[in-house]
Amino acid sequence: MLDERWLTNHGPYVAELESTLADMIGVRNVVATCNGTLALELAIRALGLHGEVIVPSFTFVATAHALRWSGIRPVFCDIDPLTHTIDASHAERLITPRTTGILGVHVWGAASDVAGLEAVAGERNLALVFDAAHALACTHQGRSIGGFGNAEVFSFHATKVANAFEGGAIATDDDGLAERLRLLGNFGFSDEDRVVTLGTNAKMTEAAACMGLTSLESLDAFVEHNRRNFLLYDEMLRDVPGVRLMRPREGERSNFHYVVLEVTDVAGLRRDELHKVLRAERVLARRYFYPGCHRLEPYCSDPAGSAPLPVTERVCEQVLCLPTGTSVDPDDVAIVCGLIQEALDHAGEVRARLVDLDGNPRA
Ligand SMILES: *Cc1c(COP(=O)(O)O)cnc(C)c1O
Repeated sequence: MLDERWLTNHGPYVAELESTLADMIGVRNVVATCNGTLALELAIRALGLHGEVIVPSFTFVATAHALRWSGIRPVFCDIDPLTHTIDASHAERLITPRTTGILGVHVWGAASDVAGLEAVAGERNLALVFDAAHALACTHQGRSIGGFGNAEVFSFHATKVANAFEGGAIATDDDGLAERLRLLGNFGFSDEDRVVTLGTNAKMTEAAACMGLTSLESLDAFVEHNRRNFLLYDEMLRDVPGVRLMRPREGERSNFHYVVLEVTDVAGLRRDELHKVLRAERVLARRYFYPGCHRLEPYCSDPAGSAPLPVTERVCEQVLCLPTGTSVDPDDVAIVCGLIQEALDHAGEVRARLVDLDGNPRA
């Protein structure tokens, strides 16, 4: 890239990344961007969304922010308790005359209820977009995620299964939409000195594209490493009472990028307590997506409020993402599982010592 002295503006590596992804996903068009959030914003604008868009609260805040940043009110929808993805029947009940689209999220790389959402969106002529930031290299009914709805959006942030330092992409089979996305992401330039619309700068650099391509070369190895970690977690936690590991759907391909533990009501410790224990042992478990977008600014201050989201509230209190990735080996997984087992086996003592961790005097 440095030898060629072509650093950005639709260089050969961005083109190669786009065509590699399009082949991999099996879509006609992929438009690379500087990050996933800008990719969401481009998709939202290119599809002409306005007014209200229905979106799950159980997602990374960028999904909701991309709508709000575009002047749209995110209308938060509840999720399915088994998949943690948007509940299509609740989405249908949230439709108003101002609704212009539905933005689903394939949380943990497992597909949303695509057929259910297509039916709801199709009937009302709503746009259907998916935030597929978690779902690279995952399938739905045997088809690669990326080809559903009007468009699907990926992220290549450093924390994702394949990364470009920072990066994003929109996948779509709609050629006209792809053309509008390219215009909007490049200041509205249709050629060298003609600007035909308002645009922004969402371009991916050549350096990022090189990193993205390098990352894709190792994608299968990353997924295999994560799969082995997952299988070990599954084996070691299967019989631990009170916790449940989420499993990819039978017959689908998963990237195993998220190891998601649900700490249920019957566990000896609450999720937050188990989280504290693990953090004290320097295990970086994460409470994704706690506390839910509807409880974050600016949404929690919206005078119109949000519909009740009972499943979201419960899932937000129960989910713990456990460490995985290529820097986590089977030995590490065994240690983490041992700590979880030990903490739950001695829940009473652990509770008493957590008081100390909070800095309060021992009872
Ligand atoms: C990471 C992520 C994004 C944002 O992508 P960036 O590339 O970090 O801008 C959006 N939605 C979800 C669900 C994500 O996990």
